[in-house]
Amino acid sequence: MSEKQFEQRLKQIFEYFHQRPELSYEEYNTTSKLAELLRNIGVDILDLPLKTGVVGEIKGEKGKPIIAIRSDIDALPIDEETNLIYKSKNPGRMHACGHDFHMTSILGAAYLLKKDQSKLNGTVRILFQPAEESSHGAEEILKTDALDGVEAVFGLHSAPDLDVGVLGTNVGPLTAAVDRFEIEVIGRGTHAAHPEIGIDPIIIVSNIITALQTIISRNLCPSNSAVLSVTHVESGHTWNVIPERAYIEGTVRTLDEQDRILVPKKMRKISQEIAASYGGKINFIWHEGPPATNNDKKLTEMAIKMAQNIGYKVRIIQPKLGGEDFAYYQEKLPGAFVNIGVGKGESLHSPKFKIDESALLKSSLYFKNLAEKALITIDKN
Ligand SMILES: [Zn+2]
Ligand SMILES: [Zn+2]
Repeated sequence: MSEKQFEQRLKQIFEYFHQRPELSYEEYNTTSKLAELLRNIGVDILDLPLKTGVVGEIKGEKGKPIIAIRSDIDALPIDEETNLIYKSKNPGRMHACGHDFHMTSILGAAYLLKKDQSKLNGTVRILFQPAEESSHGAEEILKTDALDGVEAVFGLHSAPDLDVGVLGTNVGPLTAAVDRFEIEVIGRGTHAAHPEIGIDPIIIVSNIITALQTIISRNLCPSNSAVLSVTHVESGHTWNVIPERAYIEGTVRTLDEQDRILVPKKMRKISQEIAASYGGKINFIWHEGPPATNNDKKLTEMAIKMAQNIGYKVRIIQPKLGGEDFAYYQEKLPGAFVNIGVGKGESLHSPKFKIDESALLKSSLYFKNLAEKALITIDKN
């Protein structure tokens, strides 16, 4: 296959996935297509207890290193509003986070690695992970043996704030730890004309919302980035009754591990004490999501060098407070995550989000070269 034909094939595959988006944990068609494409190029498929998602393997010599390259595969519950001829065929479903781009890039890399398998200095696992948007898909892969023996893992995200031909990354965190909280305030319901015999949960929750905002600004080091957003408030149902309960939920995003421990502690204490001072009580529930990504210094430096070698312009980027469940792999083993420019345009998760297909070829070449280089470098160390 010539380079031109290969690029054409990548575009076809990309459009196939773009037209058939599936939500987290429902990626059945996507999974069987990925498995079919891997088999067609002779890549072995690991026998793993995964409902969706698939892991392939390009085997090298025994005793040589094993590394993994990872793509997510799920889409979002969004009605696509682009004018692309290969627009989503599934109403209310859209690849608005570019996971179709990730799949195609990693498949392309798998194809190129397979072609040069005899020269490979080890084994490459090809991880197609389900349910990234749920924040817990990586955990499905980690429950299996997919990463047994793996010494380094690499992943990518499409970046609609970077031009095609630009790659952004950095050592340390690129995305935040993403946690969710719920606070229920319990007061005492009464007639709106007799507040003195009740405990008004609306007054309590209003004070809590305001006070929570001081945690980031007063308790964290000012140079550490973090966010605390209350995004949902509920209480009462009519004009002349003071309700019994109020409820808020929201999200906390942190980059620093110590901040991630401190913030919920402070939240619980502030909420409890405010509620108590009015005679009320609270229930505080903390839902842990993925940690912050943590790019390994050596691997990231290698990823940057390789990017420059194959002609990417490299940007050292600042972390953002979105989440990425690739972080779960980086808790277990060293890894590097990169953002790949897909042309400046609408943001991720927008119904008008688009990928410039001319970014596909370089991205595939990049992951092929990076995988080969990683196997050689790890073997030397
Ligand atoms: Zn997303
Ligand atoms: Zn994404």
